Amino acid sequence: MKNHMALPVVAVVGRPNVGKSTLFNKLIGQRLSIVEDTPGVTRDRIYAKGEWRNRSFMLVDTGGIETVTDDVILKQMRRQAELAIERADVIVLVTDVRCGVTADDSAVASMLQKSGKPVVLAVNKCDSIGEPPMELYEFYNLGIGDPFPISAAHGHGTGDMLDAVYDLLPPEDQLEDDEDAIHVAIIGKPNVGKSSLVNRIAGEERAIVSNVAGTTRDATDTTVENEDGKFVLIDTAGIRKKARVTERIEHYSVLRAYMAVDRADVCLILIDATEGFTEQDSKVAGYAHEQGKASIIVVNKWDLIEKDNTTMKEFEEKLQRDFSFMSYAPFVFISAKTGQRVPKLFAKIREVYEQNAMRISTGMLNDVLAYATTRVQPPSDKGRRLKIYYMTQASTKPPTFVIFVNRADLFHFSYQRYIENQIRSTFGLTGTPVRFVVRERA
Ligand code: GDP
Ligand code: GDP
Repeated sequence: MKNHMALPVVAVVGRPNVGKSTLFNKLIGQRLSIVEDTPGVTRDRIYAKGEWRNRSFMLVDTGGIETVTDDVILKQMRRQAELAIERADVIVLVTDVRCGVTADDSAVASMLQKSGKPVVLAVNKCDSIGEPPMELYEFYNLGIGDPFPISAAHGHGTGDMLDAVYDLLPPEDQLEDDEDAIHVAIIGKPNVGKSSLVNRIAGEERAIVSNVAGTTRDATDTTVENEDGKFVLIDTAGIRKKARVTERIEHYSVLRAYMAVDRADVCLILIDATEGFTEQDSKVAGYAHEQGKASIIVVNKWDLIEKDNTTMKEFEEKLQRDFSFMSYAPFVFISAKTGQRVPKLFAKIREVYEQNAMRISTGMLNDVLAYATTRVQPPSDKGRRLKIYYMTQASTKPPTFVIFVNRADLFHFSYQRYIENQIRSTFGLTGTPVRFVVRERA
C-alpha cells in the first residue's frame, strides 16, 4: 500500500435506529482488519481505516441524528446524504427489514440515485440465517439495486455486502499519486488561513503549480515545484466553502484533517496569531504526533500582531508550553496575506522531511552510544547497573531505534531522554518525532 494514496471513502447513511452504529462497529470489530482506529471528535467513532480483500478504505459514519421529531429527521437525513454524496466514493444506505420501506428511506434513496454515486443497499436486522425474508423484496422498490440482507448485530451477510462495496470502489490507479514529491498537509481550524496560504503559494512566481483533481472526491491537491523541491499540498480548506451544511462541518473538517495527516509526510499546523492555541489544534497535532509525522507550527496572520522586538520570542515560549508534547516541532511566523516568510516555509518543510526519513547506520549509532555512555554513566539500582549493549535503527518515518539493554527497568526516563538528546543533536534530528524501543537481552 503506497504511502500517499488517497484512500477511497465509504460512508454509512440511513434513518435513526436502523443499526448504522451497530454495523459500523461490527465492520471494524470483526470483518475488517483494522489498521487503525481513531476515536472521533464527537462521542461517536467517526471513521476507521479498514481493509477488505486487500483494499484499504476509510469507513465513515456520517454521524448520528440526534432529534426525534419526524420532520426534523427527514431534514437531517437529507443533509447526511448530501454530505455523503459530496465526500464518499461509495455510499451504504442502511434500512430496517422490520419497518419495511419508509417514506424517509425513499426520499433518501432517490437523492442518492440522482447523484449518480455508487450505492449499496443494506437491509438490516435480517437476523435468521437461511432464505432471505419475503420482506426483503419490497426494498427493490427503492430503485437503487439489489438489497443485501444483513444482520449488523450478528454479522451475517456483511461479507457479501462488503464484496459489493469492493466492486464499486474506484480503480486503484485512479488514486495514484506523485510518489516523489513531499506531501504536506495544511491543517487548522476554519478561518485560520489555510486557503489563503495555498493561494499565496500558488501565486508565487517561482512556483509551478498544477491542480490535480482528487479523483472522485472534492479534495484538490496542489503540486508545487520550486528550488526546494517538489511538494504536494493536501488541501483541507475546501470543506467549509463547499459544504452547504453547517452542523456537521466540524465533524468533517476534523475527519478530513485526519485523512490529510495520514497521507502527509509533513504537517503544517496553522495557528491564528490573534487567537493563539486552542483545544482543536492540540487534537489534530496530537494525531500527527502519534502517527510519527514531522510537523511545523505555522503562526499565521502575523501581520495583525502589534510587535516589538520580544513579541515573537514571547509567542514562541507560550506555544512551546502549549505544544510541549511535540517539543521538536519548529515554529514559523507568517502572513498568508502579505506573503511574509511564506517562501521560507519550503526549506523548513524539506528539512524536517529529511530528518523524518533519515536512516543512520548501526555503526554510527553505536559510536554515539559509546561516547554518550562514557560521558554519563548509565544509572544503577541496588548494585545492578544498566548495560546498553547495542542499538540499531529499525525504520524511518519516523526514525525508530531499537536499544538492547540488560534490564529495561534500569533504563530510567531521564537516561532515555539523555540518550535521545545525544542522538538528536548528533544527527540533527531536531524537527521530527523519533521513537525508541527498549528490548531486554540477557
Ligand atoms: P443507528 O441509530 O442507525 O446508529 O442504530 P443503532 O446501531 O444504534 O441500532 C438501533 C437499534 O437496533 C439498537 O437497539 C440495536 O441493538 C438494534 N440493532 C442493530 N442491528 C441489529 C440487527 O442486526 N438485528 C437486530 N435484531 N437488532 C439490531
Ligand atoms: P481557512 O478557513 O483556514 O481556509 O481560512 P481562509 O484562508 O479562508 O482565511 C480566513 C480569513 O482570514 C479570510 O478573511 C482571510 O482573508 C484572512 N486571512 C488569512 N490569512 C491571513 C493573514 O495572514 N493575515 C490577515 N490579516 N488575514 C488573513
